[in-house]
Amino acid sequence: MIKVEECPECGNNQIILVKEEFVLKEYSAKTGKLLKSHGFIGTNCWNYKCRCGWNSELFTE
Ligand SMILES: [Zn+2]
Repeated sequence: MIKVEECPECGNNQIILVKEEFVLKEYSAKTGKLLKSHGFIGTNCWNYKCRCGWNSELFTE
């Protein structure tokens, strides 16, 4: 996983990691009711952002 530790725009090292993740859930086909949640199963993509408005490119695995 590519890591960014500080903002290239303002030098802030308190940047935020934004992750788009997969979660696996089982529903009743009949009622749509949630039966079981397996939770986190993987990461789709991620990027970094900073309070100054900077957004990194989108990374994928
Ligand atoms: Zn910044």
